[in-house]
Amino acid sequence: MTSTTCIRDAACIVAWDAANHRHAYLMGGDVVFSGDTLSFVGRHYDGAADTTIDGSNLMVMPGLVNLHSHPSTEPFFRGVREEHGVPSMYMSGLYERSVAMQPDPEARKAGKQVAFCEMLLSGITSVADLSGIDEGWIDLAAQSGLRVFLAPSYASSRWYLENGWALKYRWDEPAGRRGLDAALALIDQAASHPCGRLAGIVSPAQIDTCTTDLLRDSFAAAEARDLPLTVHCAQSVNEFQVMIDRHGKSPVQFARDLGILSPRTVLGHALFIDDHSWIRWHTHSDLAALVDTGTNVAHCPSPFARYGHTLEDFGRYRRAGVNLGIGTDVAPHNVIEEMRLAAILARVAARDITTTSVGTLFHAATVGGAEALGRNDIGRLEAGAKADLVLVDLGNPWMRPARDPIRSLVFTGADRAVRTVFVHGTKVMENGRVLTMDHAAALEAVTEGQQRMLRDAPSRDWAGRTAEEISPLSLPIFGRNEASSLRQ
Ligand SMILES: [Zn+2]
Repeated sequence: MTSTTCIRDAACIVAWDAANHRHAYLMGGDVVFSGDTLSFVGRHYDGAADTTIDGSNLMVMPGLVNLHSHPSTEPFFRGVREEHGVPSMYMSGLYERSVAMQPDPEARKAGKQVAFCEMLLSGITSVADLSGIDEGWIDLAAQSGLRVFLAPSYASSRWYLENGWALKYRWDEPAGRRGLDAALALIDQAASHPCGRLAGIVSPAQIDTCTTDLLRDSFAAAEARDLPLTVHCAQSVNEFQVMIDRHGKSPVQFARDLGILSPRTVLGHALFIDDHSWIRWHTHSDLAALVDTGTNVAHCPSPFARYGHTLEDFGRYRRAGVNLGIGTDVAPHNVIEEMRLAAILARVAARDITTTSVGTLFHAATVGGAEALGRNDIGRLEAGAKADLVLVDLGNPWMRPARDPIRSLVFTGADRAVRTVFVHGTKVMENGRVLTMDHAAALEAVTEGQQRMLRDAPSRDWAGRTAEEISPLSLPIFGRNEASSLRQ
């Protein structure tokens, strides 16, 4: 017998209005799920329930979909990457950092756990996990309680640097081939896992690190298995210049002409498109290429905003007809805060408050991400959808007055107001405590792993610098007299 849970008399339900393809506030009602599936979302449920939850001070909303993240590595960069960038690489610190600082395999498992915990604590129920293949990944994803879309990433080359400005590539085409084969084997294994929460994404790592053949074959494999495909594309000015140098085309035009743009394709991050103000290329066709091909964009504002970059702009992409989802990319793995930043940056970039709204961002962070992953049964609360839901405490001081609960959540409350999370009908987080993983132990292991990563930086960095030289602390150490390299 499957067990039935009823959230009774919820003050507010973010219910799916199928006729209008949008979320709407249902002020007062019941939400019921049996096993892993929602069976009722409406005013009043007359049936029996095994468990009843008093919803009188709660908002019930669909779980958030994190469309782009790197859980194995990003937790190690807390305190390292937030203010790290390379001005001579158009501010991006991606290349310098990813070469000089790499968490070891021993630590990466704990990194995943810490990232997954952050996600559950902030109301994320589904995640696209773009990572290299580490032993035990499937077991860990199953244990986490999250709905995990495993995206094993591979490439035909690796970045390296010989100086502080020119991006170089070390090619190993057979490694890319082996990576694709291993990724498909892992995806097949994940999809058949008995927990029923795992799926796969074909993930050639970056548009500039994969050969044309590998990208084409990756797309063919995604089509043959009816899977989504994700690739980093238009994520830096350096990458744009490399693609012009190689092909005379923008990264998006190259992808379009190769035939890998489609409704199953998710581009992280499609930010530096041809008409972006940092690019100013002579063509203005990238946005139309995304629209015409039905290509999805994983928008992750935080990592770029820290460098001084922003999408131009979220509202313009939406109005053109691009489906966008929200991703965290970096730590913190908090989609609520990404929604806030996305809304603000869109308005700053457009110099227009009307360019987008929090309602539109919430749609992107739920339905937008779900549809990009080819799913119409997550990111929405309606009978028949998966029981992935979040209970938000409307009595939390940061939520009050809760006149407009989504605005309160996005602009103020965030994870502080997330009380309970269910995924696939199972309670996985309550009152700030993750029920599926040992968060404290994982944090210990990440702290130790970060120390090893920082210690090893001089042997990896092109100039042999220490981690402290690459990424100085935000304040000097008391009693030491050296100058900080951060500008005052
Ligand atoms: Zn990424």
